[in-house]
Amino acid sequence: MNSAQEPSFRESVDLMFNRAVALMDLPPGLEEKIRVCNATYTVRFGVRLRGKIHTFTGYRSVHSEHMEPVKGGIRYAMGVNQDEVEALAALMTYKCALVEAPFGGSKGGLRIDPREWEEDELERITRRFAYELIKRDLVNPSQNVPAPDMGTGEREMAWIADQYKRMNTTDINGRACVTGKPINGGGIQGRTEATGRGVQYALQELFRHPEDVKAAKLSGTLDGKRVVVQGLGNVGYHAAKFLQEEDGCKITGIIERDGAITSDAGLDVESVRNWIMKHGGVKGFPDATYVENGGLVLEQDCDILIPAALEGVINLSNAANVKAPLIIEAANGPVTAGADEILRKKGCVIVPDMYANAGGVTVSYFEWVKNLSHIRFGRLGRRQEEARHQLIVDELNALDTELGDSWSMTPDFKQKYLRGAGELELVRSGLDDTMRAAYQSMRELWHGRDDVEDLRTAAYLVSIGKVADSYRALGL
Ligand code: NAD
Repeated sequence: MNSAQEPSFRESVDLMFNRAVALMDLPPGLEEKIRVCNATYTVRFGVRLRGKIHTFTGYRSVHSEHMEPVKGGIRYAMGVNQDEVEALAALMTYKCALVEAPFGGSKGGLRIDPREWEEDELERITRRFAYELIKRDLVNPSQNVPAPDMGTGEREMAWIADQYKRMNTTDINGRACVTGKPINGGGIQGRTEATGRGVQYALQELFRHPEDVKAAKLSGTLDGKRVVVQGLGNVGYHAAKFLQEEDGCKITGIIERDGAITSDAGLDVESVRNWIMKHGGVKGFPDATYVENGGLVLEQDCDILIPAALEGVINLSNAANVKAPLIIEAANGPVTAGADEILRKKGCVIVPDMYANAGGVTVSYFEWVKNLSHIRFGRLGRRQEEARHQLIVDELNALDTELGDSWSMTPDFKQKYLRGAGELELVRSGLDDTMRAAYQSMRELWHGRDDVEDLRTAAYLVSIGKVADSYRALGL
């Protein structure tokens, strides 16, 4: 994908880091300590499948241990390599710092195309990979806690958690060794949707500030905005679905592996998702125009572009042609450092990955806390909250009777007000609060400092500042 002059993914992250650090006054040497990846473990293991031994290569990279455990997803894809996991691990450090999730940064990957293997084969491969990581404490509730990423989901996380339990039978906190588990396997409500939900909350927060909407050469609300999404997987599907169903956005383009589909009238996300499940791609979806070279749709005229698949898709070869005035990086690293510069000069507003897709790690943090506290959020307080609300409703009922026709409660007030918050409501509330607070911290610098031109630099400044503070507190 990258042209010859394009830096690698890790170099691209470093270049963006360097741009921000040049505006900071860090103690000598600390910049280098924060930037470098502490360690990357490479493992090659064999699994006997289909009558022969297959050798797989996997990685777990730890970028920064200024806080432990370290946290970051495990990716299954053929493109996985050391440079990529190190770049992703670095982004995890900055992301966790930005949203105040108390973790260092890590990332893992296995070079495999999951679609080539049956479920039972994938389970054996995953368990073996997990075994290699667990025995080196690279999966551990207090040291290193993975989560899903591209090509993995709650099924893989459940296998990893079970493998850990088998190898650590007396660890009462064993379930906290990995997040993104299924709900009946120690997971939390709202984790699967969390990253896409976070993308929605990020856009909602940006649109609460007319000044920021104007900076993106847009106006009004999210309602009716034309959105192009690349990748209808976990993150892209949830982001597009919520933006369409709850904010009135019009999804005018969807780019997948086999090409793209477009429609000025808007595509129904749920129907496209079902079509992909059935046919393996977007081709043939009714009432839409099919574009074989899907990448071209990244250049389509739209209001908001959401790359939610791979890194490096907006690069030196196409950045100048991208027309979207607002890009929200749901994927990690979709815009290369060179493309970032071109887009910035064009006045495009980019909501950076470390913020835009932080919803996943935020809810993973809630899941980890839930596992360590061994109790579901809301279990203690919910009925008590409802009982207190009932007192007010009783008073209002009495008032209603007394005042007769001159006043009455709105019909669904009672039902809405009486309902105490369950786990899902609490998770969404915590996620929304986190996304708003992190946006504010970036925004203050974006608008408050003359030398900060963009949200990405602002995000780096906030997160590097927090990591530096942790190092100082450690006496380094
Ligand atoms: P996923 O595997 O669920 O979905 C990826 C989607 O992209 C799939 O639908 C796939 O078909 C599509 N795709 C793959 N190659 C493509 C191509 N060349 N062109 C167009 N589409 C292509 O993965 P995901 O979990 O949704 O992750 C997507 C991105 O979001 C990654 O960059 C990942 O690091 C990032 N992310 C994920 C999470 C999470 O919680 N899952 C959290 C933070 C960041």
